[in-house]
Order: sequence, then C-alpha cells, then structure tokens
Amino acid sequence: MAGLVPAIHVFNRCRGEKRMNIHEYQGKAVLKEFGLPVSNGVAIFSADEAEAAAKQLGGPLWVVKSQIHAGGRGKGKFKEPEAGEKGGVRLAKSVDEVKQFAQQMLGKTLVTIQTGEAGKQVNRLYIEDGSDIEKEFYLSMLVDRETGRVAFVVSTEGGMDIEQVAHDTPEKILTFSVDPATGVMPHHGRTVAKALGLTGPLAKEAEDVVSKLYKAFIAKDMEMLEINPLIVTKDGHLKCLDAKISFDGNALYRHPDVVQLRDITEEDEKEIEASKYDLAYIALDGTIGCMVNGAGLAMATLDIIKLYGEEPANFLDVGGGASEEKVTAAFKIITADPNVKGILVNIFGGIMKCDVIARGVIAAVKTVGLQVPLVVRLEGTNVEEGKQIIRESGLNVIPADDLDDAAQKIVNAVRKA
Ligand code: GDP
Ligand code: MG
Repeated sequence: MAGLVPAIHVFNRCRGEKRMNIHEYQGKAVLKEFGLPVSNGVAIFSADEAEAAAKQLGGPLWVVKSQIHAGGRGKGKFKEPEAGEKGGVRLAKSVDEVKQFAQQMLGKTLVTIQTGEAGKQVNRLYIEDGSDIEKEFYLSMLVDRETGRVAFVVSTEGGMDIEQVAHDTPEKILTFSVDPATGVMPHHGRTVAKALGLTGPLAKEAEDVVSKLYKAFIAKDMEMLEINPLIVTKDGHLKCLDAKISFDGNALYRHPDVVQLRDITEEDEKEIEASKYDLAYIALDGTIGCMVNGAGLAMATLDIIKLYGEEPANFLDVGGGASEEKVTAAFKIITADPNVKGILVNIFGGIMKCDVIARGVIAAVKTVGLQVPLVVRLEGTNVEEGKQIIRESGLNVIPADDLDDAAQKIVNAVRKA
C-alpha cells in the first residue's frame, strides 16, 4: 500500500527502516514459487525479444507492461509523443501489436501518479498472457507497526487508486491483522472471501490465496505486498494480475536470492551514494537541503521548515560520530540535487563535535562551491571552535542561534534568492 500514508513511510525510513523494491515480473515469480495464481509471462529488455516472447506465449491476447518501480502505470503517460497515447500497460491482439508496443515503450519515460513529474525510464517490459476479467479486487499486506502484526487490507474496489477509495468510501476497505502465534487461519480466508462477496469454489480459492500470500510474506521477510487488482477471471478463477512487493531491508542478509533482484537503476542516485558513506539520506521533493545529526532532530528540522512554509529537499542524518570525510560527502550529496535552493545545517553536538562539522562543511564548500544560501546552526560540544572555523573561513555562511532562528533564516534566504 505504498503511498496510502506516504508521511508514515518517510517517517519509518527516517527511523532507519530500509526497504527494497522489485519489479512486478520478479514479484510474480516469487508468488508463483508459493503456488499463487499468476499469468504466464516473459520479461524482455529489447524490442527484438518481443516477437519471440509473444510467440512463446501464444496469445490470442497479450499484455505489454512497463516495468518500473512505481504504480499507476496503466493510467500513466509517456513523455515522448512517439511512445503513443496509450499508457504503460497495453493490451495487444497480435504478435505485431506486441512488437509495436515494445518498440514504442522501451527507453521512453513514463510519468504516473507515483513517479513524480520526472517520470521513470522504461528499460524492461513484461509480456504476459492476457486475461479476461470479470471483477477486479484490491488486496494488500503490510507490517502494521501499531499491532506489531502483519495486516491485510482488502477491498472490492480493485484496479483503482486505493488512496482515493480510502478517502471517498472508507467503508469499502476491510483491514485485519494476523496473530503471529497462530499464523494465518482458515477464518482469515473466509473473512476475505466474504468481504469480496465470493462464495462456493471462489471462496475456497480466496482462502488458498490468503494462506499462500501470508506464507510468502513471512518466508521472504516482506514489508509490503500489494495485489491490485486481484481478479476473478471470466472462467471463474482468482488471479494476481499485478504485484508490488517491498522487502524488509534489515532482513536481506537472510535472502541472497532477493538481493539478486535489486535493480539499482530504479534507486535514487543520491541515496546510493549516501549508503556508501553509511549516511541516512532520503530524497524528498522540496527546496531546502538539510544536514542534521540524529534522526529525531532531523525530523524536527523537516517539521519546522514546513512550519515556516517551505519544503525540505531531503532527510539527512549524519549520525553520532561522523568524520570530516562523511560530512563532506553528505554536503556534496545535498548540493548535487538541482532542486536545492538553500541549505540548512543543524547540529547539536553531543558525541558529534561542532568543529568536525564545521571543518567538513568548509572542506565540502571549497571543493564543490556554494551556489545557494547556507545557514548553519551549531550547538553543543566545541561550539565556539566550530563557529570560529566558519567565521574565519571567509565563506558566505549565515549563522543562526537556535533551530527556530535557523529555519526562519533559511526560508527567508530561499524566498529572496
Ligand atoms: P498499474 O496501473 O501499474 O497498477 O498496472 P496493472 O498491472 O494493475 O494494470 C493496470 C490495469 O490494466 C489493470 O487494473 C487492468 O484493468 C488492466 N490489465 C492488466 N492486465 C490485464 C489483462 O491481462 N487483461 C485485461 N483485460 N486487462 C488487464
Ligand atoms: Mg495495479
């Protein structure tokens, strides 16, 4: 259910939660491993492979699906006119049409409700056997931190934007969680079948799907699994028509097979760079770059920037005992973001020493330059030394006394710039 509560996801990631996303076709392979019903399909990387894939599947209906780490592909739009008017998921009625769609979509940039304006380049396609759809449902699972359990979210409103359903008709969404002591039970399956209005053999299939999904979720240390839509086919069977899976990053050491599925081209370059230096960095959409020590202070810094009417460009916790090298790397990552119109360094030196931060910032500015206003608020261990280093550097740094003062100063500076 990525996006249902985006703020919570940012919050959890700021607390050190790491997750790894995979493509739909990889997710479906995982589901298949656990005996779940999915269509046959072939992943392709070039248009040349499209014809062979389509022939292998046999038709008469195919689906050509853009593989990017974002949902809403069906309703998405390509930036390039030559990619055609249709979205990122297309039904094809002939081998030629599969080929044509593959040529149109590969290498093009798809913009969906989840990609942001920049969109994502489509480098892989999944060619699937087309299904005849009777009904579309929504089913997802996630780790519910409130109950400490795995929760199911089910709705009859499949194929739609679940955030919208949650907003407009919350009564159409059912959620429940599974007690880890018992694991998934037949009554959970019956609850889902009932919520979806399924009876007879389809209700039995729903029980089976629920049980297998739970097993897959636990066995693979998933963090989130979303099937939207889960369909009833015209010939009366359930099928997982879409699959979005995130794994718990802290459990990846147990799953070398899952690590193999990582597609680094889908990840934020700045986040990859940050992970090399063991920096907790998360890219956000705003204009004020932040460098802070401590996750709590970093979140407070994001809040206060918003309070004064601007948006943070990132979350960045340099950690407790950051070295000058780490601070320099952090600063470079922030300034590499073209959206950054101003930078706020907010350090409360406990274990972290203010003079180390000051030296790191100066070293970074000297190598990458400073094109935007920079506000620095230092407090705590070696604060006087730190302030002195910055004063004597001759750089155009705006000093601030406390968090409130710092936030106002950077917001004003960004607005004037
Ligand atoms: P999303 O837009 O990224 O969520 O991608 P989906 O995989 O969910 O596909 C979008 C929509 O395309 C689905 O909700 C279906 O309505 C439609 N679709 C996908 N696969 C098939 C198929 O095999 N047959 C038919 N008729 N429609 C499909
Ligand atoms: Mg979908």
